[in-house]
Amino acid sequence: MKNVETKVWDLLVVGGGSAGIVAAKTAVKLGASVLLAEHERPGGDCLWTGCVPSKSLLAAAHHRAGIRKSAALGVHAESVTVDFAAVRRHIDTAIRTIEPVDAPETLQAEGIHVVKGAVTFISDGKAAIGGDRVAYRQAVIATGASPIVPGIPGLRDFVTSETIWDLRDLPSRLLVLGGGSVGCELGQAFARLGSSVTLVEATDQILPAESPDAAAIIADSLRQDGVNILTGRALTEVTGNNPGVPGNTAVLADGTRVEFDQLLIAVGRRARTAKLGLEHVGVAVDEQGRIVVDRSMRTSNPRIWAAGDVTPLPQFTHTAGAFASIAASNAILGLRRKATTSAIPRVTFTDPEVASVGNTSAAHGTRQQTITHDHLDRAVTEDERRGFSRLHFDRKGRIVGATVVSPRAGETIGELTLAIRLGLRGRELAGTIHPYPTFSDGAWNAAIADTREQLNARSARRVIRGLTSARSMWLRLRPHRH
Ligand SMILES: Cc1cc2nc3c(=O)[nH]c(=O)nc-3n(C[C@H](O)[C@H](O)[C@H](O)COP(=O)(O)OP(=O)(O)OC[C@H]3O[C@@H](n4cnc5c(N)ncnc54)[C@H](O)[C@@H]3O)c2cc1C
Repeated sequence: MKNVETKVWDLLVVGGGSAGIVAAKTAVKLGASVLLAEHERPGGDCLWTGCVPSKSLLAAAHHRAGIRKSAALGVHAESVTVDFAAVRRHIDTAIRTIEPVDAPETLQAEGIHVVKGAVTFISDGKAAIGGDRVAYRQAVIATGASPIVPGIPGLRDFVTSETIWDLRDLPSRLLVLGGGSVGCELGQAFARLGSSVTLVEATDQILPAESPDAAAIIADSLRQDGVNILTGRALTEVTGNNPGVPGNTAVLADGTRVEFDQLLIAVGRRARTAKLGLEHVGVAVDEQGRIVVDRSMRTSNPRIWAAGDVTPLPQFTHTAGAFASIAASNAILGLRRKATTSAIPRVTFTDPEVASVGNTSAAHGTRQQTITHDHLDRAVTEDERRGFSRLHFDRKGRIVGATVVSPRAGETIGELTLAIRLGLRGRELAGTIHPYPTFSDGAWNAAIADTREQLNARSARRVIRGLTSARSMWLRLRPHRH
């Protein structure tokens, strides 16, 4: 740690997850000396406990469901079994395949100085990493977020998105608390692999951030997988919840009792700021403990920046990386480049997927066009007709939001994100030839339908204008009767 202690680093990066790694790589490419401190292992939530393991688990689960469904297409499988140990190995292989990109040696080879240890800020320009002191000119905080565990009476033995990957056996009765993206993805995955799943959501709709019709399709799909969905009911008490002892019961606000063997808590995540010493450097947090940043990713301390799940911005890997790059380049180059938040895509990787971007509310002055997939040719050929593509337009006909519910909707949303970012009008998307037959035909057809409607409305207006002026001319010219 000697040269770490004596040097003044251009940039101290706190946390080696998606945001921290991108911040460090950006700064080092700009010629800065960079110290990246990570108290566990680089890669963060996405690699170890988030995106990578959850999508690997879902891949296995969707294959199993696909085999079950294939009978409708004339393909019969004799017997289908799930080897959970092999599923775990698949997850592990995916992590190990991606891991080298984020490994300390790879980052060191790129010129980033990586140290293991938890950072605590001591004063402006000084921080402690373990027992060592470091000096920095600028810092980026990228410490991420941890699962929230609500204070429920009797709650003792449970797993979260961080610890569910340690399960050796498939739970036979899994209770999932929380119907957001994480709860729906993991609930569907375990149900498809063979667990009996109950999903409890306190609000009236699963996927509360999505439109009710999108959420309803996912709810139907989960029910078809055997998931028992209980919405509008909070978990108030757990009884018999002792490690290794069967016979757990969840008691809901309306008195419903649910027996379970394993409880997954997926009710959101809280910014990791404990022991960072933010009070020593004047970095403000909001009422939920998230580090407040302006649009240039600067905190209330002008030389400290933040990005990723530790901030109030949407909690995704793509936002963590994009905004960390802005934070680091602003810090090193003294710029105030601003983050754009109008076109941030989000995907729930259930089957079907739900992908949304931009302004999807029915705000005043916007209009929307929806194409359901029951007659979308690709959906028909794949027998995947549950779903829709919806575009939202502003007064000028620019695409401002989109929702797609379909297999691989996450792949379709990329082009719609670009359309929003570039301020494209619906007619420009309508005039762009799309390959046939694809699920992206849905959004294309929505754009074509809207363009036609607008043209019809315009010609109707022209005809009405023509008739009105002809009539007023006739009234002026007609012979007056006295
Ligand atoms: C189950 C699940 C599935 C997900 N799926 C997706 C998905 O499909 N797509 C998507 O875009 N997003 C997904 N996410 C969200 C995504 O994982 C996060 O948004 C992303 O990892 C955030 O990156 P980050 O760098 O802000 O935080 P993290 O990745 O959490 O990194 C923070 C790092 O900081 C370290 N750290 C914390 N405190 C200190 C300290 N004091 N000193 C030093 N180091 C410290 C931590 O050890 C950690 O490595 C998922 C999340 C979960 C839980």
